[in-house]
Amino acid sequence: MQGFNDAIVDALTQAGANLDNFKASQGEVAKEAVEESYDVVVVGAGLAGLSSALTALQNGKSVVLIEKMSVIGGASAMAGAGVVSSLSKTFTDNGGVLYTSVKADELIVNEGKVVGVKASSTANDYTFNAPRVILATGGYGANNELVADQYKAFVYAGAECYWRCDCNGRTTKCGFN
Ligand SMILES: Cc1cc2nc3c(=O)[nH]c(=O)nc-3n(C[C@H](O)[C@H](O)[C@H](O)COP(=O)(O)OP(=O)(O)OC[C@H]3O[C@@H](n4cnc5c(N)ncnc54)[C@H](O)[C@@H]3O)c2cc1C
Repeated sequence: MQGFNDAIVDALTQAGANLDNFKASQGEVAKEAVEESYDVVVVGAGLAGLSSALTALQNGKSVVLIEKMSVIGGASAMAGAGVVSSLSKTFTDNGGVLYTSVKADELIVNEGKVVGVKASSTANDYTFNAPRVILATGGYGANNELVADQYKAFVYAGAECYWRCDCNGRTTKCGFN
């Protein structure tokens, strides 16, 4: 398998592709540490996260919005919330910072107070410092421990949960799980 991967990397490199992200995901290059500071960090770019991020921005705050998937929208987009793309455009057009494929891993807590978020992508380990953190990571419908037995067959609280109900075997969970 390694030989196969190496052959693909060689071929793509010769074709001029930048494979830093791929190599980082394979553990071949060290991730770069990135530290940034904002007034507000919002985690999750579904409707709740986009609305919160835009509202904070419109109130004069510097805002970073991070989304673990490569596309924004979450369950909101799957449920047909067409406003997702216009919210995100208004957000970024007005100076909001949006990262996709960046997953929040843990909250930074100092003396009992949340002061930021640690997050990661295939290429970077992020430290986002902020006195305000908004978690908008959807529901916990994919968390078997949290969903009572009688609701397991019905609850969808995130895109992944929906897929799980579709029996495609996708098991990534919502939120920080
Ligand atoms: C097919 C479908 C139909 C629906 N129909 C209805 C309906 O008719 N009526 C109704 O009231 N509700 C309905 N819902 C539910 C409704 O869409 C959701 O409750 C709502 O969209 C949730 O919005 P949200 O912003 O809280 O979460 P989401 O839109 O799920 O956004 C959460 C985002 O957070 C991201 N995220 C999660 N963890 C992390 C992390 N650690 N780091 C970074 N990002 C993270 C996710 O990838 C996602 O993009 C439906 C849902 C689906 C899937």
